[in-house]
Amino acid sequence: MVLAIHGAQVIDGTRADPVPDGAVVLDGDRVTQIGRISTLRLPAGTEIVEAGGTVLPGLVNAHTHCSIIPGLGDQTGQMRQPPLPSGFRAVGNMRRELLSGVTTARIMGEEHHLDIEMRRAIDAGVIPGPRLLCCGIHLTSAHGHGRALTTTDGVEGVRQRVRQNIAAGADWIKLFITGGVSSVGASLEAYTYTREEIRAACEEAHRAGRKVAAHAHGGPGVRVALEEGVDTVEHGALLTGDDVDLMKRLGRFLVCTFAILYHPEGIEKTDRHNPAIWTKVTALREQEEARFREILRSGVRYAVGTDSMHGLLWFEIATLVRFGVPPLDAVRAGTAWAAEACGISDRVGTLEPGKLADILAVDGDPLRDVESLRRPRVVMKGGRRFDRLSDD
Ligand SMILES: [Zn+2]
Repeated sequence: MVLAIHGAQVIDGTRADPVPDGAVVLDGDRVTQIGRISTLRLPAGTEIVEAGGTVLPGLVNAHTHCSIIPGLGDQTGQMRQPPLPSGFRAVGNMRRELLSGVTTARIMGEEHHLDIEMRRAIDAGVIPGPRLLCCGIHLTSAHGHGRALTTTDGVEGVRQRVRQNIAAGADWIKLFITGGVSSVGASLEAYTYTREEIRAACEEAHRAGRKVAAHAHGGPGVRVALEEGVDTVEHGALLTGDDVDLMKRLGRFLVCTFAILYHPEGIEKTDRHNPAIWTKVTALREQEEARFREILRSGVRYAVGTDSMHGLLWFEIATLVRFGVPPLDAVRAGTAWAAEACGISDRVGTLEPGKLADILAVDGDPLRDVESLRRPRVVMKGGRRFDRLSDD
């Protein structure tokens, strides 16, 4: 079945200018042509979907989780729950992601291998959700951030956990290097794994062809993690100029997560009553904007993720624009660049012949009004339309 998604313009996610009066043609699950609709060779019987505004690649959420709803508070406490309540939250969350236009998401840590089970259910068509990249059980030490039910310590422990995750079906490995905002434990600049443990994780993962994501805000742990081979730095709110220079030299991606910190449904909704967490949030908000403006101008590669703020990838892209990123680059940070950061740019992230037909069409022009990304009209994953699921 050949379909053409036609809009006032097509943003293909590459460097190219938007194509006015453009269409994306797909056959089955693949894109076959893109261009001004009048110049395309449409086979007889092509069904044309009038999408109205802007057609762009399906969004890629480079950092999120399945089971967490930040507004409920105590995020690691939510991860400590048994599979059933966590799974119920995850079903709603994954549906919301897909309906918001996120067609691929990289899941950065779940207990019970819940992400891998979700991926199986989504791929089998049991529940709607984005295409998932999974890391299985995240690795954190006995005193690390993000510890819920499972902790992993020592070089041998780390090797074993990485191997178990890969055996269970993990695409990525996630390491918690420094403290985080949503817990009362380690500071954002203390690091909780040794150089040897980080090296062991990277060595095991890379030998099996998997990449490693490092939760790291700042402090000396960032450099150690980069030197030992981690592929992406998550959050990075306190990165120094030296850290950023090292990332540029090594070609590593920073994955920014803004909504959890700035959006009213994020950490502030319930955890503002916890003084240990609230002090971190207010201090970070003061520092982060100026620092990120500098980081984003530095030439370091970056992408965005919602860190459990399901359905809010548009907010991440809008925050980039607020921090001075040109709108087309901000859109690419949530599509093409996010796909590159996740290691899947051969399949998704741009609209090009041969790539998967992951397509989002929105009302309006996100390059003039970034909030138009909040108004999806067509959501397609692998050539299948999901926007009609929407009942809210
Ligand atoms: Zn996270």
